[in-house]
Amino acid sequence: WIPLLLGTLFSAVYTYASRRRVARQSLPATFEWALKNNELEVFFQPIMDTDLGGPLGFELLLRWHHPAHGIISPMIFIPLAEQLGKIGALTDFVMETAIGFIQENPELMKSRYLAINISRQLLLDEHFAERVCRRCGRNQHLIRHLLLEVTEDLAFSDAEMDQAITQLHLLQQHGFRIAVDDFGTGYSGLDLLRRFPFDVVKIDKVFIKELLPEGNAVALLDSMIGLADGLGMVIIAEGVETAQQADSLLQRGVNHHQGFYYAKPMPQSALVAWLARSGASEPAEGAVTVEV
Ligand code: C2E
Ligand code: MG
Ligand code: MG
Ligand code: MG
Repeated sequence: WIPLLLGTLFSAVYTYASRRRVARQSLPATFEWALKNNELEVFFQPIMDTDLGGPLGFELLLRWHHPAHGIISPMIFIPLAEQLGKIGALTDFVMETAIGFIQENPELMKSRYLAINISRQLLLDEHFAERVCRRCGRNQHLIRHLLLEVTEDLAFSDAEMDQAITQLHLLQQHGFRIAVDDFGTGYSGLDLLRRFPFDVVKIDKVFIKELLPEGNAVALLDSMIGLADGLGMVIIAEGVETAQQADSLLQRGVNHHQGFYYAKPMPQSALVAWLARSGASEPAEGAVTVEV
């Protein structure tokens, strides 16, 4: 009976262990695991000032190098992280990377900013603004080099919209610049602009893609430019892929461009070489300002 007992014991332990393993591989834990294992990486995409011919900032975009599935797009894992309550941890990681980069590259960052994407659900946390300030050590130098991007369809209900707007006001009062991202694609764009004085508007790539003289996109783009000018917001055009699109934007006075035409998002290690190649490694003093 001793082997029998041992057999039962073994299988009980084995079952327990494999159940634990399944639990450990549950999706929320996968994100913690990915962070701990350095599977997540922040890529940098230049935001160009075409007058200057160089970048006035960089957007920080997450990449996940999954050991089994290869590179997973943020379009897939960000919504998942939001649902699983893990977006805070991922955003902390991006924020830490940004802070480290600003501190380690004072020359490169002198008159440039880093743009960070903030999921709308983070703005529903009433301590979010406070936490972000504390993370920056209330250091105005750091804060002035950060641009926080929030997407246009901010909230789910009126009450949540109020909460989100409160956090944005607090952040802005602390010196953070705030951008509305993917503008033109949500449902509440104009209402949002009425309720919050964004510093920057990022016009979504769908409006840049079809910049044909006779198309609707041109009329929409022109009215968005009018809107931004009227409200005193800086415009960034997203998804600039061709010289024609860049020219068409320039004719309209839009000179802050982000897109594959200039550079794709790249790892930090490629950034310095890219800057040297683009001949823009040293911005002239006062030429670009962090006042986006
Ligand atoms: P987004 O914030 O609107 O970022 C811009 C997206 O457009 C990036 O996609 C970028 O690679 C892409 N893009 C830039 N230039 C061009 C172009 O010329 N043509 C085209 N077709 N695409 C261009 P990416 O990196 O795949 O990120 C997708 C989205 O995932 C982001 O859209 C953002 O909403 C989200 N995301 C990425 N990183 C983070 C993060 O750290 N936190 C949060 N909350 N969301 C993130
Ligand atoms: Mg963005
Ligand atoms: Mg966008
Ligand atoms: Mg987007």
